Amino acid sequence: EEDVAEYKKSLAIRASGFDVPRPLKTFEECGFSSQLVSAIKKQDYEKPTPIQCQALPIVLSGRDIIGIAKTGSGKTAAFVLPMIVHIMDQPELQKEEGPIGVICAPTRELAHQIYLEAKKFSKSHGIRVSAVYGGMSKLDQFKELKAGCEIVVATPGRLIDMLKMKALTMLRATYLVLDEADRMFDLGFEPQIRSIVGQIRPDRQTLLFSATMPRKVEKLAREILSDPIRVTVGEVG
Ligand code: ADP
Ligand code: MG
Repeated sequence: EEDVAEYKKSLAIRASGFDVPRPLKTFEECGFSSQLVSAIKKQDYEKPTPIQCQALPIVLSGRDIIGIAKTGSGKTAAFVLPMIVHIMDQPELQKEEGPIGVICAPTRELAHQIYLEAKKFSKSHGIRVSAVYGGMSKLDQFKELKAGCEIVVATPGRLIDMLKMKALTMLRATYLVLDEADRMFDLGFEPQIRSIVGQIRPDRQTLLFSATMPRKVEKLAREILSDPIRVTVGEVG
């Protein structure tokens, strides 16, 4: 625990303005807790993928990020691992309600995959993950959210439904991930995304991942991220 604090302190010194933290080469450099390291090893993740090398130090430093990398490059762990650290850092976990980490994804399949990945890394920390997407009973999801969670993975439409039903509040939410932002736009979710973002406090950390960066997505990123660092890995259109 102390190691990650030291690492983050060193990042905070370097991560101001355009001063981008150096990419890392190993998971050990992150100073993750021993539980998190063993959860990573259990997945047979020997070393971070290129997007993880670049994104982990930036996100752990607290900066907003635009991550552009193609499918299969390991973006999920790039936002889930720092999210675990962020949640474990909250001084008074028990006092308020509602998720701390909010992840939006375009489809139920993707939301479910992220849910499974988040569960693998959060289980040993006692962090609860809920998934919320269409095709499941709204009442069941309402009950699950009411029981409480620290991470919610959702498709935008269903998350809006749950917010309207007051199944959850965004009072505690300080870490927002928009995954596959280009696909969410293709599916017409821009208004829902804007509504969700508008319900989350402005001093949040915001992460936007996308395989491509069409102008509409660029515009949204400029509006909702604050002083983001952009990372592009591989050839992207
Ligand atoms: P993306 O979101 O960029 O499409 P995913 O996060 O779904 O990619 O990861 C793609 C695959 O790579 C998954 O099967 C995941 O478990 C695996 N993976 C992620 N990070 C690593 C790593 N550091 N080492 C080995 N495999 C990894
Ligand atoms: Mg992905």
